[in-house]
Amino acid sequence: MIEARLASKSQAQHKTTVHIGNGVTCGGTEILVVAGPCSVESAAQMDKVSAKLSRGGIHALRGGVFKPRTSPYAFQGLGEEGLILLEQARALSGMPIITEVMSIEQIDLVARYADVLQVGSRNMQNFELLKALGHQTKPILLKRGLSATIEEFLMAAEYILSNGNPNVILCERGIRSFDGFTRNVLDLGAVAALKQITHLPIIADPSHAAGKHELVADLARAAIACGADGVMVECHPEPEKSVSDARQALSLDEALSLAESLRAVAGVVGRKLNKNDNSHFSSFPFGHNSVKLRSASVSL
Ligand code: PEP
Ligand code: MN
Repeated sequence: MIEARLASKSQAQHKTTVHIGNGVTCGGTEILVVAGPCSVESAAQMDKVSAKLSRGGIHALRGGVFKPRTSPYAFQGLGEEGLILLEQARALSGMPIITEVMSIEQIDLVARYADVLQVGSRNMQNFELLKALGHQTKPILLKRGLSATIEEFLMAAEYILSNGNPNVILCERGIRSFDGFTRNVLDLGAVAALKQITHLPIIADPSHAAGKHELVADLARAAIACGADGVMVECHPEPEKSVSDARQALSLDEALSLAESLRAVAGVVGRKLNKNDNSHFSSFPFGHNSVKLRSASVSL
């Protein structure tokens, strides 16, 4: 018996819908598709990402600016400069943005720009960070720890809920196992189990699970088929040039067609995938000519 007083379902139909901004939700009938680069790298990169992804079945943009890297010598993220690029990407695309916060000190800064604050796997049991995020009003995307049990995962969410923030989205991103062929193992059993135990929405991140771009689309479809409320995938205008997680990065076209392929799967399990309608953003006050060009360049 898991002592998740607030995260547990009170009855089978009990479901929470989290509103993440600009009409985009997670946990209702509609599937949420999040896409974007592992790291925000440059204005040119984010321009291409927001231009391409803003039409079609992708609803929110991701991009890390504070990066939890295994090596302290690896790229650590652009920090506030990256947040400004994300804010511009949101203005151009109309899509809400999701980015990671790694420490209590970063919360105010990240919350000023982001629509959803991500807690990375390596911080899933950083209880002081979770408590502090409980005092925020913005939604929290809580990623499962690399070796966290389902109970530990749910109790981590409970830390945020019990400190006052009801807007938590869980994210299964693969757990460590013995087989090095894939980076991690996407635990779809946990997705199915969590759908029964908790009213919180749960999405899957097949990119960090597989670690190989060629496996991402199949795992994304499997996640939706087994009840996930959405998926989050990494993509890049030039995948092989990604400064982080290049091996798992999809191209922007691949991300768009993956999203489109989720439509049929969603229908089978009683969900739907809405197209992102950001046509009103073509009247955005700056660079509107390029915005029109950009919108027109997406063919779906
Ligand atoms: C990420 O989403 O960029 C990330 C670092 O993921 P995780 O915390 O799941 O490793
Ligand atoms: Mn990554």
